[in-house]
Order: sequence, then C-alpha cells, then structure tokens
Amino acid sequence: MRHFAVVGSGPAGFYTAEALEKAYGDQARIDILDRYPVPYGLIRFGVAPDHQSLKAVSKRYDKVAESAGVDFIGNVTVGRDISVAELLDLYDAVILAIGAPHDRKLGIPGEDLPGVVGSAEFVGWYNGHPEFADLDPPLDGTHAAVIGNGNVALDCARILSKTHHEFEGSDIVGHALDALDGSGITTITILGRRGPHQIAMTPKELGELGHLEAASPIVDGADFPPPEADEALEPGHRKSITILRGFAGTPADDSKPKRMVFDFFAKPVRIEGNGKAQTIVVERTELDEKGAARGTGETYEVPASLIISAIGYSTPPVEGVPYDERGGKFLNENGKIGDRLYAVGWARRGPTGTIGTNRPDGYEVAELVAADMPPGSSSERAGASGLKQLLATRGVMPTDYDDWRKIEETEVARARPGSPREKFVRVEHWLETLGR
Ligand code: NAP
Repeated sequence: MRHFAVVGSGPAGFYTAEALEKAYGDQARIDILDRYPVPYGLIRFGVAPDHQSLKAVSKRYDKVAESAGVDFIGNVTVGRDISVAELLDLYDAVILAIGAPHDRKLGIPGEDLPGVVGSAEFVGWYNGHPEFADLDPPLDGTHAAVIGNGNVALDCARILSKTHHEFEGSDIVGHALDALDGSGITTITILGRRGPHQIAMTPKELGELGHLEAASPIVDGADFPPPEADEALEPGHRKSITILRGFAGTPADDSKPKRMVFDFFAKPVRIEGNGKAQTIVVERTELDEKGAARGTGETYEVPASLIISAIGYSTPPVEGVPYDERGGKFLNENGKIGDRLYAVGWARRGPTGTIGTNRPDGYEVAELVAADMPPGSSSERAGASGLKQLLATRGVMPTDYDDWRKIEETEVARARPGSPREKFVRVEHWLETLGR
C-alpha cells in the first residue's frame, strides 16, 4: 500500500488525485488536504460567480472525492498545522497543489492607499473567500479602474458593471450583491500597458461585454494596427481582436448608464489621493522592438476611487520547499521539487492557463510518482491515521467528506431566491454548522 497527500483541493489537486487513483487502484490511499472544510479552491473562490458553466467541472471532482481510494481532509493548513517535512514522514509522496492565491505587487507609489485592492482580494470578496469577507471595497465613487488586460481584469470589470438582475443564477455572495446594488460606479477604465494585439483576454469572455444590460464597452479604433496585421494572429486571439474592433466600431449605447472604457498603451506610474485613492497617473506607452511597453514620457490622470490591480498571482512560499521568487512558484523540474515532493497546477507552472490545463499537468505528475514508486510497491508509512494522531496533539480538528457535504447542503438550503446557494464566508460559519 502507498499513501499520497495532495495538498490543495482545487482543479490541479483533484486531477492529480484522479490520475493517482487510476494508476494505483486499491494499491494506494490518496488524501486531499485543504485549509478549508470545503473543497474546490479556484472553482469556489476564483471562477466568477456568473460563470456557473465553468464551475460545473466540479461534478467530475465530486466523483473523485467519492471514489474508494480518495479522502478529503479539510481544516488543515500545511505550513502552519503541519510541515511539509512531517507530511513526507507520513506519506510516500506529497504533491503541492496550493495554487497561486497571492496578488503580485504593482511596485508603484500609492499602491497601499485605501481603495487600491488586488484582484485576488476583490474576487475573493465577491466569491466568499474567508480572508476577504471584510474587504468592503469603496463603491461610493463614480469611477473605478482595473489594471491589467487578462481575463481576471475582465471578470472584475464585468462584476462591477452588472445589474442585480444579471446576477440571477449566479452564486455571488450576499454581502457583495448587496454592496454592488448600492454601487455608484458608472465608469470602469481597463488599463492595458500594451495594445489591443497584446491582450490576454479570450473571445467568450470579451464577447460577453457586448451584451451587458447596463454597460457599453468603449474602445478607440485608433489604438489598433492596420486590419491586415490581424492575419498573423493565432485564430482564437484573432477572434478576440475582431470582437474588440467590433466594440470600437459601435457607438456607446446612451440608454445604458455605465461605460467600460478600454485604455490601451497606458502604464500605471503612481496612485494619488488624499488619504485614499483618487486618481491613477498613467504614462502613455508604445511598443518597443521586442513588443514590450516603452514609456513615451507623456502622462495623464485617470480618476478612480476604486483601483483593482489584476496583473497576475503568485504561490506563497512554504517552509522547507525551494521557491522561485521571479516566477512566484515552487522551484521544480516538470513538477518534481525533490525526493517524493512534487508540485502541480499554478504552484508548478505559475498562474497561466485554463482549468482544463491542470488535467494533463496532474496526469503528468502522477506518472512521475508512479515511475518513482511503481504501483504494486509498498511502504510502512502511516498516512491519514498518523496525520490525524499528530494533528490531535496540536488541537487541530480536521473535517471530512461528510462535513463538507453537510456545509454544502446547509448553504443550498439557505440560498437566496435566484441563487444556487448562500455561501458561508467564514471558517467559523462552517465549523458552527458542524457543531464545532
Ligand atoms: P494574465 O492573463 O497573465 O494577465 C495579466 C495582465 O496583467 C496582462 O495583461 C499583463 O500585461 C498585465 N500586467 C502584468 N504586470 C503588469 C504591470 N506591472 N502593470 C500593468 N499591467 C501588468 O493573468 P490573469 O488575468 O490573472 O489570469 C490568470 C489566468 O487565469 C490566465 O491564464 C487566464 O486566462 C485565466 N482565467 C481564465 C478565465 C476564463 O477562462 N473565464 C477567467 C479568469 C482567469 P502584459 O501582457 O503587458 O504583461
């Protein structure tokens, strides 16, 4: 028998568990650990609440969790309640699937002013992440800015622009829905330090902006290279650019009160304000020979009392695990960190790719594990029973699959009309539900 610990229950963790289960059958026990009593990481806390179809992939993970060789162990924080070295004593292999939950810093003056938030914080706030339940982003001004030209920037801008009615069927948390209902924001400026051809937004997500109930996308046609330049683009990307060109060619709909303004070639220089963010100073850029943003020296101000920085994420360092500062992920070679220690997903590759990218990633790492300790081989490691004994000496009470289901059923039972669930937003809420 082999014992494997997968740390993190997001997509990367679940695909890896699925692959290990397939490779080892009843020759292994696989424990998926999470710091929270509910699983799914990015699916629960990252994917936009109005993108329920993307969240449906969790049904596949449900099947993994229900399979005989897999257990969910929640309410355990690796690096605090137990170290990686201790896990390696208890398990044959430890696979870190902890994602990239930290915001990268802008590195400009004023970014610590109230009113400036990272996308992990803002997304966490509207998705019910316990760390960000109290974020209370300022929504009383009329202008917001989102920095970055990726899909997360789009998510944030879209959530700011949607009406109550448009959130029907979503699982946005009640506190965020109430706050957004009272929002005064009518202009959302999306700042890209490079041009339309350099966006990291995908067609489906961009296309949605053309159908918003209360907001029109505003794009300046002068920002684009000549149309022939689109021919060299990869087809999916070309589609995105075609959508953007379409926005540029469509006048703003005056019946809609909100504007989502794409400001390209605009690099944030500093954030200013009297005790809180009021304006963001940006420098006009152009592309250099390598396609990077080069400042032109021309600056201007964009008013914004809420500034969301959506410029990418990093994995937090964990004691004893080699870390790649520049890449914001664990140092690893194709997923292998060291003897019996592996990384998958964003903790392995950095924060890029779709949910589906984690599938081959998890399967690849499971193959590495299987090559290192072939199915059929065994060891005397204690696995979950040893883990639980150790945690008990530290006063840590792990939760299990039944606890997670009980929490979920309670959330569903408490759903507001039009929402599939009313998410709990604090660890205490979850534990109270379990009578702890
Ligand atoms: P991303 O796709 O890497 O985009 C980051 C953006 O931030 C880029 O436009 C980048 O511009 C910009 N940026 C980086 N540093 C900057 C700085 N210092 N100043 C100004 N701009 C800066 O990251 P993401 O949006 O966080 O998304 C992460 C991953 O999740 C992506 O693979 C994304 O597609 C995926 N995702 C998918 C969905 C979906 O499928 N619906 C939703 C959300 C996220 P440069 O290009 O100039 O560096």
